[in-house]
Amino acid sequence: MRRFDTIVMVDWSGGHDRGQAPVKDAIWAGIVRGGISEEPVYLRNRQVAEGWLTDLLEAEKDAGRRVLAGFDFPFGYPGGVAQAITGRADPFALWDWLEARISDAPKANNRWQVAADINALFPGIGPFWGNASKIDVAGLPRKGAARAGHGCTELRAVERVAKGTFSVWQLAGAGAVGSQVLMGLPVLARLRRRFGDALSVWPFEAPAGQIVLAEIWPSLINKAVKADPDTIRDRAQVRLLAAAVAGLSRGDLAACLEPRSAEEGWILGLGQEAALLSVLSADLAPPPLSDDCFALPPGVDWTPVPEALTRLRDSLHPVVGQENVALPQAVGRVLAGDIWARRSNPPTANSAVDGYGFAHAATGAGPQILPLVAGRAAAGQAYSGPVPQGHAIRILTGAALPEGVDCVVLEEDCRSDGRAVAFNGPVKPGANTRDAGEDVETGQVILTAGHRLRAPDLALLAATGQAHAPIFRRLRVAVISTGDELCEAGDTAGMGQIYDANRPMLTALLAGWGYEVIDLGRLPDDADAIRAALDQAAGADAILTSGGASAGDEDHISRLLRAEGRLTNWRIALKPGRPLALAQWRGVPVFGLPGNPVAALVCALIFARPALSLLSGAGWAAPLRMQVPAGFTKSKKQGRAEYPRARIGADGRVVLFASEGSGRISGLSWAEGLVELPFEAQEIAPGDPVTFLPYAGFGMG
Ligand code: AMP
Ligand code: MG
Repeated sequence: MRRFDTIVMVDWSGGHDRGQAPVKDAIWAGIVRGGISEEPVYLRNRQVAEGWLTDLLEAEKDAGRRVLAGFDFPFGYPGGVAQAITGRADPFALWDWLEARISDAPKANNRWQVAADINALFPGIGPFWGNASKIDVAGLPRKGAARAGHGCTELRAVERVAKGTFSVWQLAGAGAVGSQVLMGLPVLARLRRRFGDALSVWPFEAPAGQIVLAEIWPSLINKAVKADPDTIRDRAQVRLLAAAVAGLSRGDLAACLEPRSAEEGWILGLGQEAALLSVLSADLAPPPLSDDCFALPPGVDWTPVPEALTRLRDSLHPVVGQENVALPQAVGRVLAGDIWARRSNPPTANSAVDGYGFAHAATGAGPQILPLVAGRAAAGQAYSGPVPQGHAIRILTGAALPEGVDCVVLEEDCRSDGRAVAFNGPVKPGANTRDAGEDVETGQVILTAGHRLRAPDLALLAATGQAHAPIFRRLRVAVISTGDELCEAGDTAGMGQIYDANRPMLTALLAGWGYEVIDLGRLPDDADAIRAALDQAAGADAILTSGGASAGDEDHISRLLRAEGRLTNWRIALKPGRPLALAQWRGVPVFGLPGNPVAALVCALIFARPALSLLSGAGWAAPLRMQVPAGFTKSKKQGRAEYPRARIGADGRVVLFASEGSGRISGLSWAEGLVELPFEAQEIAPGDPVTFLPYAGFGMG
């Protein structure tokens, strides 16, 4: 089975036009293109849907992409019916027969009459029944029980298997599908004619074409739909079904498209419900990091910071799966795919001011007096008729430009008596108007994968028709403090005990970066306790530990990670900070930070932050670097990078905390950032430019 590049699942409707605003019981199409789930498309009526589908199939075909398009109505009638109606036992003969007779417009169609005409071809009363219109239709009973002697089978074979499906003969009432069939098959007949050999209809034909049409029934994945937060059920159905079909393995997809009744048709995926649901419930995640991702080439000794960062960056990739969330929940989350505009902004040319609109061509220099047409154009209240050349219309900000209007004069520059408007020319062509799509054009990529969504991004998404966003699942990071000397802030500290300062700092940092924090508390310097905690922490995507990371007697984290995990001590030429312990425990990356709070923070900001950002799908996050004049003197030796705690003084110069001691927590709190002094020797005098890394640029509020 050749794979499909694009999956489109359409929830059809037998009813009338549902209007502009997305509602249920209209037509919805769910799309997965190239493995990325797109925002379902709202199609207010069948005419719009047919146009949209035709364009989509043309575009996919031209691009050489293979499409599977599903429609939630039966493709055929019970055995013998096609023969009885058309004289041929060929479902396509029935499609064409219906296509020739059904007329369909947004507000009116002839489905009741066509059903009655079919009934007249059979003896007795029926088989079609049900009538949602007020007017009785001769030969079309309102109740199913009123039918008799028509001789047709009630259900197709597939409907006898799929419990809960409705008979094709029922045209009206909750859940009825008969009208959708009558109104849908003519559309499919036209698609078939248009695409010829490029299109095949399963199971009437082998699913070999570049475009394959198939009958679907979203109730197959009811369990997932019920658990979905979307308030519009039809929209959730098509989004989930498209995702489920797109995620099937090659074998499961082939099983869905096996040969079936070539006269009555069959439901795609019936019998494969478990496979479809397991696609939706699986936490799809990228492969884990390679086993030796933190390994250093042999002979590497003290590595300069930039080289260590490059090596770390190259060893990691995103480890989280994806989900689709509604916009209000998407803020702060990381986009998992590129987003293109579903709609232009503005969607139509409109007025940028309150004033009077007219055709520029009819105006010139000097005083202008134009008669006003009756009525006005306002935002959301379009003026329907054209404005004749030489006339003007009262127009308000945001109103779509009526036909015949291409420029607007500001109301303050006009006089009007209600019948005409006077102003001074010349007026520039296009004055005070906004072009359709001048901000964003439909189809334009507006945001790219890896972008962390902020409030203004939600405005852009909403304005261009996006109600949901595909995002990476939140990275879960476990935090562990180690040391026999540690006790919890607020507890009574015994002799020789200190309060655990790193854990509140690290958990707050991680939460500020948008991660889910799993606080695993404090641990004594005891291998068994640490092993148990690491096992628990391995349920997360990454682990941050502090303390015990060097090579001393009590450095249990290092010892355990070396013995039972995979540990590399990266000797990074950095102050403050001892070797940074990078390891994997049961395949989960561990960042072993030094115990000293100053070193722990610097290592977390310089190494853990960009690495976690990469793991989370947001890409490597370099800190914000600013060149600021020094407010200090310093003689720095060659051989390592230093990150003293700093803040910017009232004179705009950067000053350092008085002590460099790595236990000086007060300096961390006093500071508003770090100064970065590179590897090389440096004599710094007041006024020399130095690199300042503000805390805010590390995502620290
Ligand atoms: P270690 O890396 O375990 O050798 O610890 C280095 C220094 O940092 C020692 O003075 C520890 O007491 C101190 N330390 C370790 N963990 C913490 C912590 N969570 N909070 C405050 N100080 C700590
Ligand atoms: Mg310790």
